Amino acid sequence: MEQTEMELRCPHCSHVERCGSSQMLARLQAVGALRRTHEPESGLVLELFAAMVHRFSCEQCGEKGLTCHEANDEEWDDWQVIRNCESCRQPISPERLAVFPQTKLCLACQGKRGCR
Ligand SMILES: [Zn+2]
Ligand SMILES: [Zn+2]
Repeated sequence: MEQTEMELRCPHCSHVERCGSSQMLARLQAVGALRRTHEPESGLVLELFAAMVHRFSCEQCGEKGLTCHEANDEEWDDWQVIRNCESCRQPISPERLAVFPQTKLCLACQGKRGCR
């Protein structure tokens, strides 16, 4: 059976944590999103997990506001994540993603929006 793992990332201390389905369940139960007796299907767990991720607190620094991504072995091990810019749909450079893992915009679009 295929297992989807999620990768939790803390924007405060850049702690990274991998969650298999049992850890995801535990996290969801800890914030009261699921009852302990309830055994939901994995698709629902993933959905809830992504929806509730901002409520989880970091194991390392205790801050909330974590982000999550689907952990994909080949891609995440060396941080070569391809993400496309939300604005122009061009891939964001891996160097930029390494520095700003949360970014949804490429450098050009960020520059356009960032003028204040
Ligand atoms: Zn942290
Ligand atoms: Zn762009």
